[in-house]
Amino acid sequence: MTRIIDGNEIADRITADLEPCLETLADAGVTPGLATVLMSDDGASETYVSMKRQACADLGIESIHHELEPDAAADALFDRIDELNADPSVHGILVQLPVPDHVERRAVLERIDPLKDVDGFHPENVGRLVTGNPRFKPCTPHGIQKLLEAEDVETAGKDVVVVGRSNIVGKPLANLLIQKADDGNATVTICHSRTEDLAEKTRRADIVVAAAGVPELVDGSMIGEGATVIDVGVNRVDADTEKGYELVGDVEFDSASRVADAITPVPGGVGPLTITMLLYNTITAASLQTDVDVSLP
Ligand code: NDP
Repeated sequence: MTRIIDGNEIADRITADLEPCLETLADAGVTPGLATVLMSDDGASETYVSMKRQACADLGIESIHHELEPDAAADALFDRIDELNADPSVHGILVQLPVPDHVERRAVLERIDPLKDVDGFHPENVGRLVTGNPRFKPCTPHGIQKLLEAEDVETAGKDVVVVGRSNIVGKPLANLLIQKADDGNATVTICHSRTEDLAEKTRRADIVVAAAGVPELVDGSMIGEGATVIDVGVNRVDADTEKGYELVGDVEFDSASRVADAITPVPGGVGPLTITMLLYNTITAASLQTDVDVSLP
């Protein structure tokens, strides 16, 4: 029987484990604050930000929201980041990506104070992660590690294929999984759009992570018997639904779930963990900035 991994349930458990951390901070007079900055009128980005804000509110993290017009000058965004960097009530800053084309993404990520960089995308935090001393693990890769741990999927000595090499998912996940650490020690292959014979690589893997942003790219014929399949993809495809679309992963669920040992669904797999690990990182940031020790799960 293939196990359908319930990301919501795992995320709820981790969130419950975060509550004592908030109590410790509250006892010291600290309420963690997360600032979200949206410079886009894209519906998906708006939805992601409102989900993150709701999750903060549910747990007792203060959510501070800022919006800029998509055609505002890049300097308006940089000035806003500077203000948030200087505000002691803001412990974490998240600029929802993508930013408009006239704003250089790299400059945005470098502008955020590394101690408030709860996405973990600042070069200083990337460097720390690669060298095995992470401050903030990027939320989606960290969530995938937590998900594998919760499902007792061993990574040590296993062959992992990550399809996708973005700075947000593919690269940081690969870097985490090769670390000499209990939740690492894997042998990782990173695939991308120029990879030849993707199926030959995914078929050999004990764990396949699909993060390509291509609907149903990985089907059952590309999965080895008994593999664990983690589907990161969230793709809107036209459908005869009220909203006019439905969400589809990067894995063809029906065929892959006939071969896999365990598989994440879309939605309800990786997505909930991404949000939970943002809360985790915001609490980490508050702890680091106030010198209040918390025992993170
Ligand atoms: P990017 O577009 O930044 O990166 C996609 C990667 O996939 C690139 O490295 C690209 O290769 C590779 N790729 C594209 N097509 C193929 C192909 N046919 N074969 C092999 N590799 C391919 O996407 P992100 O990493 O930001 O996101 C990936 C997916 O995950 C998206 O669907 C996104 O919505 C979703 N996502 C979900 C999250 C969640 O919480 N569930 C969080 C973040 C993202 P190349 O580098 O050569 O272009």
